Amino acid sequence: MTCTEFLQILDNVIDESIAAETRAEIEAHLRKCGHCEVVLDTTRKTIEIYRCHEIYELPTEVSERLHTAIMDKCRKAAR
Ligand SMILES: [Zn+2]
Repeated sequence: MTCTEFLQILDNVIDESIAAETRAEIEAHLRKCGHCEVVLDTTRKTIEIYRCHEIYELPTEVSERLHTAIMDKCRKAAR
């Protein structure tokens, strides 16, 4: 699994609507990729904050900005 693949299914990961084999791939990726681990953690926390305010949908703008920032970090880390 690559960072891009991980980010594409990030929403499903958070909803836990993923197959067991996919979950194993994600866990393997997170073990070697600290950036995606941080993304997952940050996104979960962000969503919790939104839920506390009874806003269930993460605005597209916010998730796009998050994805862009993370991909930028992943690219830099790969160098
Ligand atoms: Zn990654």
